[in-house]
Amino acid sequence: MVALAATLAACSSGDDDSFANAGSTATLAVLETTDLHFNVRSYDYFKLADDSSYGFERTATLVRAARKEFANTLLVDNGDTIQGTALADYEATISPIPCTQQLSMYKAMGALGFDAGTLGNHEFNYGLPFLNQVLGGGLDVDGVDATQKCAGSGYPAVLANVYSNKTKKPLVQPYTILERTLIAKSVDGKEVKLPIKVGVIGFTTPGILNWDKRYLDGKVYTEGAVESAQKYVPEMRSKGADIVVALLHGGLDSTAYSPTMENPGLHLTKVAGIDAMVMGHQHGVFPDTAATPAFTQAGVDNKAGTINGVPAVMASSWGKALGVIQLALKWDGSKWVVDKTASKSELRNIQSKNAAGTTVYVTPDAAVAQLVESQHQAAIQYVKTPIGSTDFRMSTLFADVGDPGAIQIVNQAQQAYVADYLKANLPQHASLPVLSVSAPFKSGFQGGADYTDVAVGPLAINNAADLYLYPNTVYAVKVNGTDIKTWLESVAQRFNRIDPAKATEQQLISTFPGYNFDMFTTADVQYEIDVTQAVGSRIKNLTYLGKPLNEAQEFVIATNNYRATSGKTILGKLDGTATIWASPDANRDVVIEYIRKNPKVTRAANGAAKSWRFTKVSIAGPVVFSSGANALTVAQTAGLTNVSLLATDDGSGKGMSKYAIDLSK
Ligand code: MN
Ligand code: MG
Repeated sequence: MVALAATLAACSSGDDDSFANAGSTATLAVLETTDLHFNVRSYDYFKLADDSSYGFERTATLVRAARKEFANTLLVDNGDTIQGTALADYEATISPIPCTQQLSMYKAMGALGFDAGTLGNHEFNYGLPFLNQVLGGGLDVDGVDATQKCAGSGYPAVLANVYSNKTKKPLVQPYTILERTLIAKSVDGKEVKLPIKVGVIGFTTPGILNWDKRYLDGKVYTEGAVESAQKYVPEMRSKGADIVVALLHGGLDSTAYSPTMENPGLHLTKVAGIDAMVMGHQHGVFPDTAATPAFTQAGVDNKAGTINGVPAVMASSWGKALGVIQLALKWDGSKWVVDKTASKSELRNIQSKNAAGTTVYVTPDAAVAQLVESQHQAAIQYVKTPIGSTDFRMSTLFADVGDPGAIQIVNQAQQAYVADYLKANLPQHASLPVLSVSAPFKSGFQGGADYTDVAVGPLAINNAADLYLYPNTVYAVKVNGTDIKTWLESVAQRFNRIDPAKATEQQLISTFPGYNFDMFTTADVQYEIDVTQAVGSRIKNLTYLGKPLNEAQEFVIATNNYRATSGKTILGKLDGTATIWASPDANRDVVIEYIRKNPKVTRAANGAAKSWRFTKVSIAGPVVFSSGANALTVAQTAGLTNVSLLATDDGSGKGMSKYAIDLSK
């Protein structure tokens, strides 16, 4: 009788008659931002200049346009949201945002109204008490006041695969079920309103336990995304979720599944009950309509915009794109069913070319900039604080071909910091030589402006942040001579194999990331890289203090938390077991402190020590690479006389010039 009464009540309410409206269809547009990295404004705090190519203030405009276009939208954020700019550091560590106020990033997102979001690895970079505060409270984990109530993010955070050791429960709620009303079309073409329950579940990369060990060790543990999904997706369904949207702060990797894998997207889509998946972390794009798409693994369909048949997106980073999944839904009289084959996904970029071929950008949403203006100005003042001066232009424009100009000071700072610490605190290692490696973190991946480039003159905090892009922390690892050789061989993958007989042009730089191209910058260590040899056989004449490096000799190497825990990527030993000290201090702050103590930075003392050069070899044709536009004088003043400018425009459309290097010189 109760059920009958309910049906009758429903029947009498016209458009809300769910039963009579069986067969109605609707489109739900799932809108994704990912890896915003606190880029609220289209602004580069290192260069103190606007940069229209990124920024949530422009993505916001795309969100508003999509909401006009689609009657039903769901806006989700996929994590790596609260870290990444000077404004982020300012609000986390320099002038910590009070409990009563939202982070500027969340405030800006609030102007649009997000429905849900998950956490990326970088959400853990400032520790659990800070995360608890900015999420609004409620994290029941050691070291955190779980009763604290703060302003929060403004939308529900979901994360299914990180657990509190204290409670053995998920650190934040694993999923949320959002109750919404969809505007649908009935079989006879009328507009009808029908209820929907949208389940949203989140997953982050288990690497957090290594990368932020100092904050998380003994406090939280992780589970594989697949295991968490298998546990919670059926639970969401049983609680009435019509559809399930997975927010994966991870991407795609074709290797076999393991619960600690960084990018399990291909495996997660095979868990029954997931209707759509938004991805991130890799800062890549999916679907990708380019001639050579970013992702091409089995199961990836760039045309349909599906991964193993599941509609999916990965919306780049820094607000450069908005992911849009159009889920085709059908009401069967009691619940919504997704027609995956009729669904589609796409990316909408803030940057495009107009009919004349000129690059144009989406207009910023004025409301967003206004919300963060005072904090934005405060962050600019913070990064302008002078700490020293330099007598040379410190750049990574030619770091790939041997200029140590922006890397040596990082190595000097890290080396001194670790050596001092060992002497004072780890006497058992204090007799070992301390060396340091670092890499050109900015090496043109995002275009001709994406290089560390510090002008002659005063050095301020923004310059130190340019010299060290990431908020990594200093780690010290103990390795031997053989390990150093393996390490250098591994990072020499930065270069393609060059065929000496080939008469046509050959590209020197491979797709191996520049931020992994570790190098020494000291007279004590010398080596050659022979790019005509296969990967693994390129390092030649490796010496320490003028003698061939002794394979058994032990060294301490100063590096960063990512490298020390990168494992197989670089050197098997870098799985945490070689770490003798995981410092709590950011490499960037160590560089800032070093400059404060040594404020007169000079080319001779801080930017001229080359540890490596290319092995001399004659190549029949040109060996070429791209770098910042018209920057040949930078190579020349660094003493790289074998570099020449081939074309002022390399054709990439990214503001880069094409250079040649004469490897015979
Ligand atoms: Mn990220
Ligand atoms: Mg990430």
